[in-house]
Amino acid sequence: MNERLHTFLTHQGQTNQSPYLIDVDRAEGIYIWDKNGKRYMDIIAGVAVNNIGHNHPKVIAAIQQQLSKHLHVMVYGEYLQDSQLDLAENLASILPESLNCSYIVNSGTEANEAALKLAKRYTGRQQIVSCKNSYHGSTHGSLSATGNEAKQSSFKPLLPQIDYITFNDIESLQLITDKTACVIIETIQGDAGLRKPTRQFINALREKCNETGALLIFDEVQVGMGRTGKMFAFEHYNVTPDILTLGKALGGGMPIGAFISSTEIMHCLTHTPALGHITTFGGHPVNCAAANACINVLKEENWIAEAENKGQFLEDLLKQHPAIKEIRRAGLFFAIDLGNEDKVAKVVTACLEKGLIGFWFLSTPTAFRLSPPLSITKEQLQEAADILISSL
Ligand code: PLP
Repeated sequence: MNERLHTFLTHQGQTNQSPYLIDVDRAEGIYIWDKNGKRYMDIIAGVAVNNIGHNHPKVIAAIQQQLSKHLHVMVYGEYLQDSQLDLAENLASILPESLNCSYIVNSGTEANEAALKLAKRYTGRQQIVSCKNSYHGSTHGSLSATGNEAKQSSFKPLLPQIDYITFNDIESLQLITDKTACVIIETIQGDAGLRKPTRQFINALREKCNETGALLIFDEVQVGMGRTGKMFAFEHYNVTPDILTLGKALGGGMPIGAFISSTEIMHCLTHTPALGHITTFGGHPVNCAAANACINVLKEENWIAEAENKGQFLEDLLKQHPAIKEIRRAGLFFAIDLGNEDKVAKVVTACLEKGLIGFWFLSTPTAFRLSPPLSITKEQLQEAADILISSL
């Protein structure tokens, strides 16, 4: 075992018994190069993070500009800082009026933690409703809302008073009552192997929340920022949440999360108790500068508008393959279902050997996921399809 691998396996906390072990040298656009000079086509994009590709020059320039001014100067919410203000304004410009107030945190799971707290505080209620087969993050609160017994069982007790509806089952919405603080749901379920809501279900969900006064939280940590062919997945359905959570691609490659609501709802975190959600590093100026540049790139380029067409292109190249049982897709987010766990492992490994990075789902073992940078070209998608087909 070489020294670097030894350090990785011994001195870095491990979470996976068979990690990918790509020894990263550099990354640009849709490619990652390892220390031996091998080039990988990254069609997982750091798991739906590098939507505008790796090391986008405008993100790098924004980071460098911010570096030359200041790093951390104060905990969140005390000082006026240019990059925080720019990001708040930019987010408000791409969201409906009722989502005009953003609070920037450090990760997707923290965004969900804070969203749950905000809903409890605003409504004065305690019950939380989540969805079976959901994924909302790995910290205690988000894990409590993650409808996955296998992921939860070793870490109990978790948050009490959480009930789970079934995705796309309108009957199960009965669990939402006037005791419910909020319903947290992925607008399009990712880890469940990519499941889209029906229009009836998402409309009924919004109506039930209106009726009972429960706040509706859409977790778009994975599907936001253009991934599905709209800036936000909820735009496909014309249903607006009361709280939106973001993460992953928002930072253009830097660590960030956001929970977003109206000024009125958000304001309750200022009292009873004061400092209702606090964070030292949330809204870090460098990360906000990167996020702001990332949103600007998404606004300037035509990539989001092209995502559906490019996604269909790749789907058409793959769908006739006899080894594929089903392709579930939203824009440039794919679950390729082979109906068999061993086959998935073999195909993902074969792709990796051929220089193509796809990835597993945490809890859908019969499928693997693809979420290429939105900047990928059709030629590159053709190349990816060739490697996938030869691996299949
Ligand atoms: N919510 C969803 C839908 C996610 O896919 C993820 C991460 O994969 C999270 C929340 C947690 O985000 P993070 O890993 O940044 O804490």
